[in-house]
Amino acid sequence: MQGVTSNDFSSAQGTPRHDLESSPAATVSAGPGPGPAPEDLLRRLRARGAADPVTHVERVPARAGVPAPWPPWASAELRAAFATRGVVAPWQHQAEAANLAYEGQHVVVATGTASGKSLAYQLPALATLLADPRATVLYLAPTKALAADQLRAVAALELEGVRPACYDGDTPRAEREWIRRHSRFVLTNPDMLHHGILPGHAQWSGFLRRLAYVVIDECHTYRGVFGSHVAHVLRRLRRQCARFGATPVFVLASATSGDPATAAGRLTGLPVTAVTEDASPRGGVTFALWEPPLLPPESGSAAPVPPGSSSPVPPQATGDDFPLPVPPQADGGHSSLPAPPQADGGHDDLRQVRRSALRETADLLADTVAEGVRTLAFVRSRKGAEVVAANARRSLDEAVPGLGDRVAAYRGGYLREERRELERALLHGDLLGLASTNALELGVDLVGLDAVLICGYPGTRASLWQQAGRAGRSGQEALAVLVARDDPLDTYLVHHPEAIFGAPVEATVLDPANPYVLAPQLACAAVEAPLTPADLALFGDGAKEAVDELVAAGALRQRPTGWYWRHRERPEVDLRGEGGAPVCVVESSTGRLLGTVDGGSSHFLLHPGAVHLHQGVSYVVDDLDLADGCALVHAEEPDWSTHARDVTDLSVVSVRSYVDAGPVGMFLGEVDVTSQVVSYQRRRIATGEVIDTRPLDLPTRELRTVAVWFTLSPQSLTLAGVQPADVPGALHAAEHAAIGLLPLMATCDRWDIGGLSTAVHQDTEAPTVFVYDGHPGGAGFAERAYATASAWLRATRDAIAECGCETGCPSCVQSPKCGNGNNPLSKPDAIRVLDVVLANLPD
Ligand SMILES: [Zn+2]
Ligand SMILES: [Zn+2]
Repeated sequence: MQGVTSNDFSSAQGTPRHDLESSPAATVSAGPGPGPAPEDLLRRLRARGAADPVTHVERVPARAGVPAPWPPWASAELRAAFATRGVVAPWQHQAEAANLAYEGQHVVVATGTASGKSLAYQLPALATLLADPRATVLYLAPTKALAADQLRAVAALELEGVRPACYDGDTPRAEREWIRRHSRFVLTNPDMLHHGILPGHAQWSGFLRRLAYVVIDECHTYRGVFGSHVAHVLRRLRRQCARFGATPVFVLASATSGDPATAAGRLTGLPVTAVTEDASPRGGVTFALWEPPLLPPESGSAAPVPPGSSSPVPPQATGDDFPLPVPPQADGGHSSLPAPPQADGGHDDLRQVRRSALRETADLLADTVAEGVRTLAFVRSRKGAEVVAANARRSLDEAVPGLGDRVAAYRGGYLREERRELERALLHGDLLGLASTNALELGVDLVGLDAVLICGYPGTRASLWQQAGRAGRSGQEALAVLVARDDPLDTYLVHHPEAIFGAPVEATVLDPANPYVLAPQLACAAVEAPLTPADLALFGDGAKEAVDELVAAGALRQRPTGWYWRHRERPEVDLRGEGGAPVCVVESSTGRLLGTVDGGSSHFLLHPGAVHLHQGVSYVVDDLDLADGCALVHAEEPDWSTHARDVTDLSVVSVRSYVDAGPVGMFLGEVDVTSQVVSYQRRRIATGEVIDTRPLDLPTRELRTVAVWFTLSPQSLTLAGVQPADVPGALHAAEHAAIGLLPLMATCDRWDIGGLSTAVHQDTEAPTVFVYDGHPGGAGFAERAYATASAWLRATRDAIAECGCETGCPSCVQSPKCGNGNNPLSKPDAIRVLDVVLANLPD
């Protein structure tokens, strides 16, 4: 391959997986590996049950790389340094992006996992540092681990005078000044930029004055509210650079994503050119879509709720979605409900029609481990990862006592020492199977996996490809399996493989105009330097209004020279903190810190009485101290699981935009959502039987957010054949499925959004379905739903219509987080409702 032997920054030398990117061999052999060939392995896995669970097998072929010559500006010294790391020439996309950046264009390179994106920014950045002994580079990664990986990669090049250094919360005080004064390649994260570097810009003036490049790695992770915050941190950075006379070039690296130029432009506020053609070589992957089998009726007790429940007001203690005046209880999703159903361990035994994805994944994990196949199972929730690991361990131990020890769970909430130990064990082969949350997606050096199991669609095609990209070592063939959960989106996807393999990945969504982000960010900016009218343009839409509100609130004072921060203390703004500070989980008897749970989830997962799993060990919460941010637990393994419920009310604050489509109205606007976790159910793990419902005394939480909603005239529903008594069930079912399908359109998942449906809403005075962002001020999801309304609701309608069930199931209209016990729901009437909307709504 024309001298391109490898673009591998090399695993052997301990450089990051992140950069391990292009596989070493430009061509791929399916030769004998450490485990069986993926096709054989898959054949054995799918032959276990009576029915074949595989709905589709996609061969993702191996791809040869397309090399490019070194850019003429890359010095011999730089080429030689890369050559020692095994890079003999760049791939085409790397050279293209590097050339654009070197010419001074802002550029985003958006290509697959392991495609060598880092060379695209390292080349122009390092070439500039070598050519201009004064220039500096700032590198931003979403996690400290990733920055540390990148530091190792840059340091390994041993380039004279670059002096790369990490500057983050772990950097010893003693080293910080040296870094500020001498490092020319500073690696950090947006949080440190926000909390440390920008407030201390005076100390950084020398560095910022000479800033040539800002590298933003894994920029697709800056989405939603966090992404909107980061967008303003970057504007603050640009403002400080401009004050010192610098105009750095931004180079961004993204996972494959839809319209990366627009997303990168929103993030940086600059025009950005995208490079998306992946020219790196890749090993082949056998990718199977797997739908767990239906359970026999008696064990699946799941009795889908009968359509058109005769009682319009179900006797639920927690209220319900409709009709008023009972406050509509809804499908509360938001940051407070991040956990998928399986997180509730034991849910899988309840009212499900299909075998749970968790159990299926646990079995697959046990089977692959028994075959000696090094396997990583991605599970969406931390509890789910624990459950999968525990079940796989149990099955393996039943087969061969002791074999279970080779499987473990891994998740973000673990303490650092635990994580390091698990990584080490997997790398050394002491562990063969790991069940993980997506914590592994970023910056952890894990290679050499023969199979990847993905338990439930991870929410975006970008994540799916990132996770699947873990499979395959050294260009060898590998197996990836997506195990569908019993929900509308997963079911839709395993039966519409074209939506996975034939569709572009989704766009990264963020909304810098979110006033809940903009105002605090402007306050931070004002502390750094008084705001001027010119700054308002930099911060974009809504900045003037936000400044006016800050003045009215007494936070800013207007003077002839600008707006000044009035207080002694800096505003406290947490970029990731809309869910509140993490809550520590502490074992009361020993005082041992078991881990943390994010604040937004704490009411749901750590309420008194909640069953909490850690490394397969079960704990019960004695007390949740919200003031101290800590939950006290004791070890106990009851035979029930717990399921928290909340009640929700919603009112319309304002309408931003709407479409008047005759009997149908489609709206985008601000809403107030009030919710409170009020009770929890205890359910028998073995049978799913509800033991009891216990009240909780937790404070309400208010959410001002953005919603999309549609209304229909009662007459149009009657004409479509929906009986008045069935309207609540019809709307409710349509709402559930619409929430389930929204992730097809936006980079969110159903746990980011909530919904509420009602036969008459006090503000719309019509049958209405609301779908709202679960984040203060909105995260752009509802906006995206509004912008793609007909495509979104078309997919929703098709997903319901194509589901094989008769009366509605978790794969179509039932929701795992329904605050109303999935009652009433009417599947056929939901299709009628959506038909009315689609018939009237312009495309
Ligand atoms: Zn169904
Ligand atoms: Zn519901």
